[in-house]
Amino acid sequence: MTSGKNLVAGKWEHNSKAEQFQTVNPKTKVPITTIFQQATLDQINESVKGAYESFDLFAETSLKDRAFFLKCIQEEMLLAKPQILELYQEESALPEGRANGEFQRTIDQIQSFIELLHEGSLTQVCINTKGPDLRKMLYPIGPVVVFGASNFPLAFSTAGGDTISAFSAGCPVVLKAHPYHAGTSELVARAINKSLEKCKLPLSIFSHLGGQSHEIGRLLVSHNLIKGVGFTGSLSGGKALFDLAQKREEPIPVFAEMGSVNPIFILEDKLKTDSSLVKDLAQSVTLGTGQFCTNPGLIVVCNPMNTLDLANELSKSIEGLELPPMVHSNIQNQFDNKLEELESKGKLDTLYLSKSCSAAIGSIQATKFLKDLSLGEEVFGPFTLIVECKTNEEMLKVATLMEGQLTTSILGSISDQEISKKLLSILKSKAGRILFEGVPTGVAVTQAMQHGGPYPASTDSRFTSVGTDAIYRWLRPIVFQDCPNDLLPEILKNENLLGLKRKVDGEITSRAL
Ligand code: NAP
Repeated sequence: MTSGKNLVAGKWEHNSKAEQFQTVNPKTKVPITTIFQQATLDQINESVKGAYESFDLFAETSLKDRAFFLKCIQEEMLLAKPQILELYQEESALPEGRANGEFQRTIDQIQSFIELLHEGSLTQVCINTKGPDLRKMLYPIGPVVVFGASNFPLAFSTAGGDTISAFSAGCPVVLKAHPYHAGTSELVARAINKSLEKCKLPLSIFSHLGGQSHEIGRLLVSHNLIKGVGFTGSLSGGKALFDLAQKREEPIPVFAEMGSVNPIFILEDKLKTDSSLVKDLAQSVTLGTGQFCTNPGLIVVCNPMNTLDLANELSKSIEGLELPPMVHSNIQNQFDNKLEELESKGKLDTLYLSKSCSAAIGSIQATKFLKDLSLGEEVFGPFTLIVECKTNEEMLKVATLMEGQLTTSILGSISDQEISKKLLSILKSKAGRILFEGVPTGVAVTQAMQHGGPYPASTDSRFTSVGTDAIYRWLRPIVFQDCPNDLLPEILKNENLLGLKRKVDGEITSRAL
């Protein structure tokens, strides 16, 4: 059951004077009964103060204790699974298979952080005993704000990668719930709150604030006790929050994962010979009604002999397709407006709109595209633009002028290798993940994953928001010089009671000093 209340430094607070809002089923357009309360200024301040006051204690918890906390979150979420899945589907209208898959992905993500904490290398202890005694480790940055994302109500929201990586680092979290799925978010927040209780940790380590005014996010990011921000969403939202954080008296890092069209470059021979290309691309463009950060919004083909009319073939494959509605009417409206703009400007050579769903396919000659690169901006949803190149040189030019991306793909055959090499040398500085097979949708949650790229894909291309390396956004190096053993954090002490592997005078060892 949801209450619509805010969780303020560990207490569910009712405020009869708060502004109210409801979530809506995107398919039926029927509002869901719970009345949610918008967080007030006092609640924002109280939440941040609570997070700040609990920081020292949380930062000093052992990695084992933090792993147990995450285990409890998994258990509480599993106990509430039927209610979470029911509300997830009502608030997003995403199908049962997707709901189940995203729930399991969220549980698996938590599991990967549990394993990371047990393994212990995340603190990167480095000790130098010759000369001054230097003991370096990674330490949590402090209380952070996390924004729930609209397109993944579980995996990139309340107990998603941002929150769980921050908890693993030892950072308290103030969560700004996404207003499109406030109920799902509340149910997950309850699981986190109960887990803190079970672990006898300060409840103020986690707050959950609702609202549908940008003001709440702005106040949280501006608060002088907040030390970092995690965000997934629009370029305009991420950039606004980033700018705000840089203008503070004490600037703080904002790790925003924003727009990306994930260009796929298809080379001449591949276009001729790969019979599954059309099916794979159509599936990737329309997966999750196109609302994935890794959705391929731009496909650049080298097609000098007109061997395949890819736009036409893709158009055929979306003809009778049925797709779930987009997660909110605002996203659908933005999608429709952008397509209308493309159509009315008449800048594309063709624009095919499916009659059975929202999917759309556009095409344009590279010579025209190169004169107006704004045509390559993200149209968030099931749309892709095919850019037709007549020569490899045109393709290289498109690659050179491309903005930063989460992913880019080079699909070529053996005989395309020479041009692949040239493309690769350009694309290495454009994207965080470069694929040579398949499609960019589907992001493996492993330590080797990189989900983040040069601006505007994200605000700091050195970090990832998927996979266990996401934890490094919330940690900073600190070195203790000639510090008495008793004053050192447990993992730096001579005894090494936790038996962690440490780098001591250049040697990896778990022995005591
Ligand atoms: P959004 O508008 O960026 O909002 C995400 C969160 O950030 C919301 O909680 C919102 O708060 C807050 N926010 C946005 N702008 C803000 C600002 N200027 N100041 C303070 N807070 C701000 O994204 P969305 O609602 O998820 O979807 C809208 C559009 O985002 C989509 O149409 C799509 O273009 C894009 N999007 C892209 C990706 C991607 O991965 N590339 C993913 C999701 C969405 P409130 O709404 O509560 O004020």
